[in-house]
Amino acid sequence: MATTSKLNAKIPDGILESKWTKYRSSVHLVNPSNKRSLEVLVVGSGLAGSSAAASLAEMGYKVKVFCYQDSPRRAHSIAAQGGINAAKNYQNDGDSVYRLFYDTIKGGDYRSREANVHRLAEVSSGIIDQCVAQGVPFAREYGGTLSNRSFGGTQVQRTFYAAGQTGQQLLLGAYSALQRQVGMGAVTLMPRHEMMDVVTIDGKARGIIARDLVTGKLERHFGHAVLLCTGGYGNVFYLSTNAMGCNVTAAWKAHKKGAFFGNPCFTQIHPTCIPVSGDHQSKLTLMSESLRNDGRIWVPKKKDDTRKAIDIPEEERDYYLERRYPAFGNLVPRDVASRAAKERCDAGYGVGASKMAVYLDFAFNTERYGKIEATKNNLHNPNKDEIMRLGKEVVKEKYGNLFDMYKQITDENPYEQPMRIYPAVHYTMGGLWVDYNLMTTVPGLYALGEANFSDHGANRLGASALMQGLADGYFVIPYTIGEYLSEEIRTKAIPTDNEAFVKSEAEVQAQIDKLLAIKGSKSVDNFHKRLGKIIWEKCGMSRDAEGLKWAIAEVQKLKAEFWNDVFVPGTANEFNSELEKAGRVADFIELGELMCIDALNREESCGGHFREEYQTEEGEALRDDENFAFVSAWEYKADSQFELHKEELKYENIKIAQRSYK
Ligand SMILES: Cc1cc2nc3c(=O)[nH]c(=O)nc-3n(C[C@H](O)[C@H](O)[C@H](O)COP(=O)(O)OP(=O)(O)OC[C@H]3O[C@@H](n4cnc5c(N)ncnc54)[C@H](O)[C@@H]3O)c2cc1C
Repeated sequence: MATTSKLNAKIPDGILESKWTKYRSSVHLVNPSNKRSLEVLVVGSGLAGSSAAASLAEMGYKVKVFCYQDSPRRAHSIAAQGGINAAKNYQNDGDSVYRLFYDTIKGGDYRSREANVHRLAEVSSGIIDQCVAQGVPFAREYGGTLSNRSFGGTQVQRTFYAAGQTGQQLLLGAYSALQRQVGMGAVTLMPRHEMMDVVTIDGKARGIIARDLVTGKLERHFGHAVLLCTGGYGNVFYLSTNAMGCNVTAAWKAHKKGAFFGNPCFTQIHPTCIPVSGDHQSKLTLMSESLRNDGRIWVPKKKDDTRKAIDIPEEERDYYLERRYPAFGNLVPRDVASRAAKERCDAGYGVGASKMAVYLDFAFNTERYGKIEATKNNLHNPNKDEIMRLGKEVVKEKYGNLFDMYKQITDENPYEQPMRIYPAVHYTMGGLWVDYNLMTTVPGLYALGEANFSDHGANRLGASALMQGLADGYFVIPYTIGEYLSEEIRTKAIPTDNEAFVKSEAEVQAQIDKLLAIKGSKSVDNFHKRLGKIIWEKCGMSRDAEGLKWAIAEVQKLKAEFWNDVFVPGTANEFNSELEKAGRVADFIELGELMCIDALNREESCGGHFREEYQTEEGEALRDDENFAFVSAWEYKADSQFELHKEELKYENIKIAQRSYK
């Protein structure tokens, strides 16, 4: 299979290990005085956006940063709990750049681009140094060295963390770097601004239309380049662990302006979330993967066991991950752990009132830590209570905020009884297709962080999203943007009364007017919930052709109904959160259709994309490397019409194999 002619990944020649080094040294540069007259629009202020904006401004470019929150600090990245990977080998446990590269490619079920993943592994180490220099308070050992823990799909400890608040601390670091540039006048912040469209002139991205969310006013902004750092689209499922505001609008509008959408059906379902508790829920809560370092997952061996967890003796418990995957145990990758939980619950072994949950139990390791503490404290023959008390202190130190969160939500004490967990939508590996430079198929339009189709293939390993977002922002885009902007030094700022801006703004206004004029009978949430149900049931943890065909037809019907019967209160020229939501849900509906089309087209199982028809006898994902070793890049043609382009994935440095964690 050859890559479709419209796609050029621009992967540099040469051996894998030196591609990036060589490229960095030979990529075109922009001289300092020219940088000052080049304007870059950065949409999004999460880890990808803040790090990119701070870095580009530091280099001398004029930067504007947009986000819909009231402060860049509230970007969804703040929610990240567990940690960030880097191949520093501080534990001396066999880690290396190659091993991180290998784990990531294997974890993604051989559906990511080798050159990008290797670059990611190479720069990972620098991210930690950069963040430490900014003052990010990573956890440390007694002697002062940085601490590490394990995440899924690896056999080394390479995850750096700041208690259960790693994203928040990293974002504060990036935000400080950004504010420094704001203070120096190099960055203009545009909070409470939502990008509504990309403006293209002669095929190149030249700006955006943004809506001031407080006044409702539409604004035109010119940029020599536009960076979309707008996060993932997990909220297409309505219920997910994502922040409520996460949406696909920026990426989707870019898609409609010519940016191809990569692997839209690759969604990550995270195995350890607090289970759904009823119909009136609007959000799901993640229990960080870091908990799988010390939490053991099990269900009763007996079906429909109604005993309390602590009353079920050890020999009547099925630690099914340890049983099925002895080499990785509770730390198998997320897709594998999620499917295994679903399999047990579907087979009738689930726990809790809904029976759609499994246990995450800390008792074993609490006792282990307690014994270590007792020895350290010279306590001879401590009784079980003393041991558990000491152990709980250690567990509290490591995971205290996560345990508190669990207790607040469920009113159950996880120090005394196991957590109940179930898989939930968490992350989207799909996103805007980008080349090695992180440029989309629209020249001058880039996508960074979770918004691009990313380096994670069909399944992202834990603690790798923060790594990728910061790699893109701090280390990749500062170089690769030069390749494009060095050709733009003669382009003067284009006045925003240019007809492309005028037309784009008029289209945005027309959509707003249309939404407000429908005055139908159903709320925006009504449609969002129904969309989420369709996508979760038919394009969620498992899919099949029949269900996907049904889902495509249902989403089309839902779209027609939405545009006839949605009710959006208020007006355009005011703060109107229902209007904001309506625009986002309209885009989610269109994306939902494409996700199902993509899932239907990919007649294999890989990573998070599990087609019932393609599985091994043991129920594992069955890839078809002969026919599907490609990135799907969809081109928007017209309403409900998309054309598939394929980027062939070549593995020259890794032996492609059936994934095994046994
Ligand atoms: C609960 C939770 C915990 C997680 N924990 C971890 C972890 O421990 N380790 C890890 O590696 N990953 C983790 N992840 C994943 C990781 O947090 C995200 O993938 C990552 O933070 C995304 O960063 P980002 O910069 O790409 O986007 P985001 O942080 O989502 O930022 C998006 C930005 O875009 C802006 N934006 C979006 N649309 C528009 C628009 N139209 N106009 C203007 N602005 C717009 C928003 O305002 C925001 O500023 C976790 C995810 C969740 C949900």
